[in-house]
Amino acid sequence: MPKTYDAIVIGSGISGGWAAKELTEAGLRTLVLEAGGPVDPATDYVEHVQPWQLPFRGWGDRAKLGREQPVQKQCYACDEWSSKFFVNDLENPYSTPEDRPFAWIRGRQVGGRSIMWGRQVYRWSDLDFEANARDGHGVDWPIRYRDIAPWYDHVERFIGVSGRAEGLSQLPDGQFLPPMEMNCAEAHVREKLLAAYAGERVLTIGRCAILTREHRGRAACHYCGTCERGCVTGSYFSSLSSTLPAALATGRLTLRPHSVVESVVYDAEKRRAVGVRVIDANTFEALEFRARIVFLCASTLESTRILLNSKSAAFPTGLGNASGELGHNLMDHSMGHGARGTVPGFTDRTTFGDRPNGIYLPRFRNVKHQHPNFLRGYAYQGGAWRNGWGRGQGMGGFGAEFKQSLIRDRGPWQFSLYGFGEMLPRHENVAELDPGLKDKWGIPALRISCAYGENEKAQWKDMIQSATEMLEAAGATNIRPTNEDVAPGLVIHEMGTARMGRDPKTSVLNGWNQVWDAPNLFLTDGACMTSSANQNPSITYMALTARAAHHAVDLMKRHEL
Ligand SMILES: Cc1cc2nc3c(=O)[nH]c(=O)nc-3n(C[C@H](O)[C@H](O)[C@H](O)COP(=O)(O)OP(=O)(O)OC[C@H]3O[C@@H](n4cnc5c(N)ncnc54)[C@H](O)[C@@H]3O)c2cc1C
Ligand code: SF4
Repeated sequence: MPKTYDAIVIGSGISGGWAAKELTEAGLRTLVLEAGGPVDPATDYVEHVQPWQLPFRGWGDRAKLGREQPVQKQCYACDEWSSKFFVNDLENPYSTPEDRPFAWIRGRQVGGRSIMWGRQVYRWSDLDFEANARDGHGVDWPIRYRDIAPWYDHVERFIGVSGRAEGLSQLPDGQFLPPMEMNCAEAHVREKLLAAYAGERVLTIGRCAILTREHRGRAACHYCGTCERGCVTGSYFSSLSSTLPAALATGRLTLRPHSVVESVVYDAEKRRAVGVRVIDANTFEALEFRARIVFLCASTLESTRILLNSKSAAFPTGLGNASGELGHNLMDHSMGHGARGTVPGFTDRTTFGDRPNGIYLPRFRNVKHQHPNFLRGYAYQGGAWRNGWGRGQGMGGFGAEFKQSLIRDRGPWQFSLYGFGEMLPRHENVAELDPGLKDKWGIPALRISCAYGENEKAQWKDMIQSATEMLEAAGATNIRPTNEDVAPGLVIHEMGTARMGRDPKTSVLNGWNQVWDAPNLFLTDGACMTSSANQNPSITYMALTARAAHHAVDLMKRHEL
């Protein structure tokens, strides 16, 4: 007999951790099924390991990386320290058309990508939730900012977000811990831009899920600076440091690592999901677990893959696919465009420690006035730093005196503005099952076909031009454009493929993240997103997950689930 729980959560990353916390705290006996293995921060985190302590001095075993992680190694964080937190691409294959590359960056362990993520967290606003309805791309979101605002509050209070309130309508303020400090060059550029653009372009310090003071038993950040390698002090938000311990403390959590969910079991008579099929990652044993409600939180494309693999007579093309939209409308953000330059002066000043955060320049396009060449908008991330060891290249010098001069006389201040743009939802950007491809566990794998369109390309031009103009306005010199060709996927904000909507004929989920045809099946990771905005998305997944979990519990209490 399959074991029965009140709730099953699939995945223990950013979304799954939140589902586990909220459901267990509401009194539900909850099973979390995680495909990857456990992680012990005491022994697995490596943020304080120095290059000379590693066999390849930080360069990594490039032959092995090329063989086993050819996709993952494209991510800046997949290096000799952290490659163990990224999937093995041979065991977890997917295909793409040759002319439509997609870099699918994944983590498979307890904690998912919450271990390596960049921790940038920005609320969405009604500019984003109303965007599809306004310009007709995609379907209308079934929610507005007022529906999610209390859940942003709830999440921020728990995870700890440092940031500065700016009072901008397009980037609502939140429950902030004290902001990190801008350095002198950043503060200078902020003032110059406020003056040059009459307060419409506000350069602020990044809002990030990193503690600037002790918070709920977690220590403040000590600025060691390499968070993608883990954090033994739990100073940034990860499932491992925050949500999973909270769930465990209730005594109602069962966490089962090495449990690869293959599909959801659907009972057509009851119109309910009744359980999940699992393959044990080590023994390859087929298992089944049952529950009253199921939360799919395996990450955007993995959750959609599970639904596509959940075929039955009622749903021959995948559970929840009555609309035919499952797998479609895949989005990522776009990046690679902006500018950098030299900020003159301030050469008597430098930074102390390694601040794990940059600056943020929120969207200013199509906020008040419509741009003639493109819809939606973009924001910049970046920051200022003083040239250090890197400038040694091409400099004259030799030996101890040369080394001393590099330490003593740092180079000039550099400043970078790096754009992150919104991608429109398009039906033709799709993830389907590849009939000829299976993973190590024999589960059908995905074929992903995704490309940027004309609207994104028009934004890229403007990102370069505006960044150049702003650096000029700030008095920068030696301004160079940034113009990189970055494939979709590599921004690691993949979203969509099981969108929320108002109509079951055109969407997969309702406004509470319930699969229209299986109301006890909730999907709350990035697959649910109806549009992509330009803000980093994970805090929105967290808020939607917490909101959906509370709704599920309410429905259960009313015996409606
Ligand atoms: C280097 C890097 C930087 C990033 N920076 C930012 C940032 O600054 N801001 C931001 O908002 N986002 C950022 N992201 C993206 C962010 O990490 C993801 O949006 C977020 O982790 C998604 O949460 P999730 O719970 O959906 O997926 P994940 O955190 O990936 O967790 C999914 C979990 O599900 C498990 N799983 C998958 N398939 C199965 C299965 N079949 N059965 C059981 N379990 C399964 C996985 O093993 C994993 O543990 C970054 C990502 C990376 C890698
Ligand atoms: S910089 Fe701060 S948050 Fe990042 S690993 Fe170091 S202590 Fe942790």
